[in-house]
Amino acid sequence: MKILAIGAHPDDLEILCAGTLAKMVAAGHEVVMCHASTGDKGHYEMPPEQLVPIRRQEAIAAGGLIGSRVVSLGLKDGDILADRPADRSLFIEVMCDEQPDMVITHGPNDYMPDHNAVNRLVFDTTFLATLPGSSSRGRHAAKVPSLFYMDNLSGLRFEPTLYVDISDTIDRKLEMLNQHQSQLVWLKEHDGVDVLELAETLSKLRGMQAGCRYAEGFIQHMAWTRPNHIRFPV
Ligand SMILES: [Zn+2]
Repeated sequence: MKILAIGAHPDDLEILCAGTLAKMVAAGHEVVMCHASTGDKGHYEMPPEQLVPIRRQEAIAAGGLIGSRVVSLGLKDGDILADRPADRSLFIEVMCDEQPDMVITHGPNDYMPDHNAVNRLVFDTTFLATLPGSSSRGRHAAKVPSLFYMDNLSGLRFEPTLYVDISDTIDRKLEMLNQHQSQLVWLKEHDGVDVLELAETLSKLRGMQAGCRYAEGFIQHMAWTRPNHIRFPV
């Protein structure tokens, strides 16, 4: 199965679903990790031209730990807009490029606008990419993939309908997140959190709910045709 995971920023997938992605790869599935933004504004000292290549390398190193290809849509932090045709086109092209069977992305009630815009763009374009002529390159996606929402940053107002036991991949998840050294600093300074601790705590909370040591929670998007052809692959 081909799984396309799409986060707004280069570290979101690591925080919210990397334990599951690691399990998917280990089970023989192909996982592509995509971030919409380059992460250009995630640092107080480093200007974008210095930060962007560093964040790209951090993301590639994290994906490399599980053998995932990492792609960027090249948008800018704080400048992802669900109703902007150019942004919609970028998402349609990645759906056509990757032809996923299943997509994982942000839920609709996360804490900042880029995450919520990506949620809308993914919902819209997983369908729109299947329409003939939707891509400027004269192609379309073969099917509407199943769609799953990963947890939000604190679990607030997110009621998982599915839990994945990641007790055996929590160390790999944290190792992947630890590749994002620029963000360990940024999130401490800007948001006052140790993001490694946050990710471990959230995984422990979901694990407690699910009856295992560590888990990640997901909500499947239930709408016509979406659930019927996919079983969650791990
Ligand atoms: Zn983010």
